[in-house]
Amino acid sequence: MRPVLSGMILIMKDNEYYIESKSENLIGSIHKLSSTFSSPVVLLAIACTVQSQTSIDVYYVGNMGVHIKWEGGGCLIDGLHDYYGPEYQYPDSAVVNRMLNREVSFDETDLLVITHVHHDHFDSDLSARFLQKRPGGRLLAPSQVLDTLARDVDSYEGIRNQCWPMNKGPYRADKVKMEFTPVRHTFQQRHYWVENYLVELKIADRTIVHLGDAEASKEAFAGVKSIESVDLLIMPFWFLLSEDAIDLAVSYFNPKVILATHLSPLIDEDTLASMKKLFPSLILGRVPGHVITIQY
Ligand SMILES: [Zn+2]
Repeated sequence: MRPVLSGMILIMKDNEYYIESKSENLIGSIHKLSSTFSSPVVLLAIACTVQSQTSIDVYYVGNMGVHIKWEGGGCLIDGLHDYYGPEYQYPDSAVVNRMLNREVSFDETDLLVITHVHHDHFDSDLSARFLQKRPGGRLLAPSQVLDTLARDVDSYEGIRNQCWPMNKGPYRADKVKMEFTPVRHTFQQRHYWVENYLVELKIADRTIVHLGDAEASKEAFAGVKSIESVDLLIMPFWFLLSEDAIDLAVSYFNPKVILATHLSPLIDEDTLASMKKLFPSLILGRVPGHVITIQY
């Protein structure tokens, strides 16, 4: 563990609270804060909060995929799949190989979470290989995903015990707790048959919510409990297409930071720019890489 500033959310972009995320930059952090707080007493108080703590790092990997890391563990949500069509981002094969083989930066990531069965979120073969490499690993997914896996993969019996159907209830492991709530998939005329789940991930006192391909409507959220304050909301971009949809997301989750995902690689810059105006700490998931560090 390294010493870091405690009790602060670090937002890496477009951020009024911006401070450096690395403890080695503590002096720089205090220097930056000094432009906000003029009193040396305040600076001293902030310096005194330095202690041994840990942080959560979130990386965007493609489409709605994120890699969430904490000390001693990690999970992938909708982040292990390959090419589906020109409108969908996906992790490149070198990154997929590292995920599968438990290599650099994925060596403690043993949880694979999948919101629904569509192949821009899920791949049977890759999911099975992820579990085979990790005897203690878990796949947390709707029954529909697990049924598909059982049908597609000959080796399913060997990994069956590693699979956790989301309708079984919350999942708890070492530092993490997950809850799952069904929320209907967008574009019901076509996708009425798809089981889509909202994932609420709690690590220490921090909360991350991933919506999967949720429909942006009050009706779809009827069974969703509101959460007082979400540290990071990962949602599909269509929640940015109307005031009502944005209000819905904010009223349920009051997110400190939003990561907008499911953006097509073919999307134009004007549309991206108009989305950026809508929420002060919006991050657009376009380029794979580090999104945010959340400290606790
Ligand atoms: Zn979908």
